[in-house]
Amino acid sequence: MTNKGPELSKAYDPSPIEDKWYAWWLETGLFSSTPDEEKEPFSIVIPPPNVTGSLHMGHALNNTLQDITCRYMRMKGKNVMWLPGTDHAGIATQNVVERQLQEQGISRHDLGRDAFVEKVWEWKEEYGSRIINQLKKLGASCDWSRERFTMDEGLSRAVRAVFVRLYKEGLVYQGKYIINWCPRCHTALSDLEVEHEPTEGMLYYVRYPFVDGDGGVTVATTRPETILGDVAVAVHPRDEGNAGYIGRQVRVPLCGRVIPIIEDNMVDPEFGTGLVKITPAHDPNDFLVGERHDLEPVQVIDETGRMNEKAGPDFEGMDRFEARRKIVEMLEREGYLVRKDRHDHSVGRCYRCSTMVEPYLSEQWFVKTAPLAKEAIEAVKEKRIEIIPEQWENTYFQWMENIRDWCISRQLWWGHRIPAWTCERCGSLTVSEQDPDRCEKCGSFEISQEEDVLDTWFSSALWPFSTLGWPDDTEDLKYYYPTDLLTTGFDILFFWVARMIMMGLKFMKDIPFRTVYIHALVRDEEGRKMSKSRGNVIDPLEIIGEYGADSLRLTLAALTVQGRDIFLSRERIEAYRHFLNKLWNAARFAEMHLCDGQRPEKPEKAFLRDHDRWILARRDKIIDEVSNYLDTYHYGEAARSLYEFVWGEFCDWFLEMAKPALRNEEGPTRREAARWVLQEVLGDVLKLLHPFIPFVTEELWHLFRFGEDSIERESWPVADSGFEDAEESRKMSIFQEIVRGFRNLRAEAGFPPQKKLETCHLVIDEGNLLADLKGNADLLSLLTNISSFNFSSAGGQRPSQALTAVLPFGEIFLPVGNVLDVAAEIRRLEQEKEKTEKAVEKSRTKLENEKFLQNAPVEVVEKEKLRLEEGMVKINNIDRNLESLRRG
Ligand SMILES: [Zn+2]
Ligand SMILES: [Zn+2]
Repeated sequence: MTNKGPELSKAYDPSPIEDKWYAWWLETGLFSSTPDEEKEPFSIVIPPPNVTGSLHMGHALNNTLQDITCRYMRMKGKNVMWLPGTDHAGIATQNVVERQLQEQGISRHDLGRDAFVEKVWEWKEEYGSRIINQLKKLGASCDWSRERFTMDEGLSRAVRAVFVRLYKEGLVYQGKYIINWCPRCHTALSDLEVEHEPTEGMLYYVRYPFVDGDGGVTVATTRPETILGDVAVAVHPRDEGNAGYIGRQVRVPLCGRVIPIIEDNMVDPEFGTGLVKITPAHDPNDFLVGERHDLEPVQVIDETGRMNEKAGPDFEGMDRFEARRKIVEMLEREGYLVRKDRHDHSVGRCYRCSTMVEPYLSEQWFVKTAPLAKEAIEAVKEKRIEIIPEQWENTYFQWMENIRDWCISRQLWWGHRIPAWTCERCGSLTVSEQDPDRCEKCGSFEISQEEDVLDTWFSSALWPFSTLGWPDDTEDLKYYYPTDLLTTGFDILFFWVARMIMMGLKFMKDIPFRTVYIHALVRDEEGRKMSKSRGNVIDPLEIIGEYGADSLRLTLAALTVQGRDIFLSRERIEAYRHFLNKLWNAARFAEMHLCDGQRPEKPEKAFLRDHDRWILARRDKIIDEVSNYLDTYHYGEAARSLYEFVWGEFCDWFLEMAKPALRNEEGPTRREAARWVLQEVLGDVLKLLHPFIPFVTEELWHLFRFGEDSIERESWPVADSGFEDAEESRKMSIFQEIVRGFRNLRAEAGFPPQKKLETCHLVIDEGNLLADLKGNADLLSLLTNISSFNFSSAGGQRPSQALTAVLPFGEIFLPVGNVLDVAAEIRRLEQEKEKTEKAVEKSRTKLENEKFLQNAPVEVVEKEKLRLEEGMVKINNIDRNLESLRRG
């Protein structure tokens, strides 16, 4: 049987290749996985993208890295299960649908809760798979038959089971709490959903008179409208200037409330006058101060951002900003306003609608996190869970050790409605997994369900086990849990990763994953964050359309360095696109020699030449390197070493040196040997590259008829040539230095590469080396385009009228007497020398200048030193060349 496949097209065109193979992979079930006790599992759950989401560069990077590991593990023989899905993204999805309704002039309140939720489901059915399809474009090898949604039936059941159990154990409770509130969206926002931006504002200095005696204190505030809710004035206990006031009482301007002056460590003595007002209902820090000092909060702003009746008749019903203007006016008129200064500060805004967030005191549901956090800290301390890069461990510990209770209720309609029912008759609460029809306590049928839904992170915290069938005891859970790897961005280390660890330990009694890999942030080429307003966003789908998914994947992988951000540009993607062309062209060359005739048999070692042994030894080294890198999640190092090997060694050197043998210029035995080496190395190159660039490698694998099945079902290469990399590379590097040396001399003399030169000369110090090089003279000749090579050992005669260079193991000479105008070349070199001497002098003066040495950055000084050194070497070289030319 011959191995002639269909011919490779001239230019590499990714788009038809990528679509074709992705469809085939799905068809042949390459990505599907079922529990199999014979095989070792490797499981990953995808960080579920928002169902409203569209693939951005962060997703592209995250899923490329996960995919590389999945494909690598499949080739290593693991039973890989990569579970995909989407998150219902409470507020984001509700907003999308609300906006749609708005265009028709309808509000969600017009529809009512049930009809609105119905609408959101309709939206999800229609548009919810967009991001899933985009992940497919990227090549993600998820087991799509396992796709889950955080609000599907199974996951909703898990959410209820967890909520009810936590409630019954006292780990879920209701309480007053200050939360981030959007007065427009009418919902609590998590800290993550608040965007802080610098805002121009004013700092108002307000006089609070003492109750007993004359005088008073001056308090600085940016929010005078909250004065009406003040319950204390606080100073730092070590603020000597103000400590004397502690224990006295003051009267709140305008409303006349009598409040104490207290001490608290929270106060920053450097801010304003060092005296701050405490408004527990309208500031999160003040809320904590209030709790510590047992102060009853006074709420003066309502949920729509308007002043309420507690603010007094002058302000009731007024918008908070309008009230601020009026209060300042009154403070001024009544002599309480001492002064006002321009003061820029950071203001939190709703990430959806940009409305200024209002800290708001309300009845919310909480998870008591401290008891859950304890074990979650231990799991990481004991390295049962490894966080990569390690630097993030500290961040994790810091947060977990200072963890606050988790506010889990959201005032939305879209999400998991809290399974708690209040009895209209006796007021008691029924919390239950099944919808109850009566009050647990008094049996009344008049019960109503809690209006709030759960924070989206509540369901995603269960993702690693809820997606595998929990609360049922399933085969999947037994086989795939704990999962092996979680890849995610640093920004959700707390919101998501930490909570998954807490919930996994609590409900599965085991960690949810063994390794957490924190991926980079993708920035633009100047290191700025990508943003729509800056216009520097690179859209992964556009890139895939233009360059192919393989190019994008390889770029993102190659630019990855643990713990560093990625600076991405189109130029960089283009550079990796060139690599794919290079690979394609190498394959076209190989096709001519491999796909013609029988498959080559493994030759005897004696028929292998130095470069054959070298490339096999290098291939072995690269297999070991790439495997180690991928085992330790060093994606960038793996991609870059493959890139260097394929381009710099396999294509640029090996293929060139193999040409004569492949063209049958070294006899039939050598031709078969060369074909076998080419097949060996190319086959392994495709396998090693496959996790990074799955599409093009699959295409080439089939074109070469290396196998009928997917390349991914092949086993990962093993280093088994038996050749020593150090030994083979030492010989090869000498050979390469000689070739480069002659190429440089040719270039110096101005000979174009295609001009064939007659002769050259090498003086080699070492006997063994001399013999090796003589044996490869035909290849030296081929690669330097010089017909004959004359060798002599150390102390041998040196040719006259030649350009020359010193290499570590001898000298090389390129006689130019017959081909160049020697007199003109001498003139050229003299001029060159003069120019170089001037440059050297300049560098030397600079480096003798103390001021320069002191003031210039280290890199600049180092560069100058290097310039000086190179200049001196060059002068030395020119001198040797001049001497040789004049010797004629
Ligand atoms: Zn909002
Ligand atoms: Zn009742």
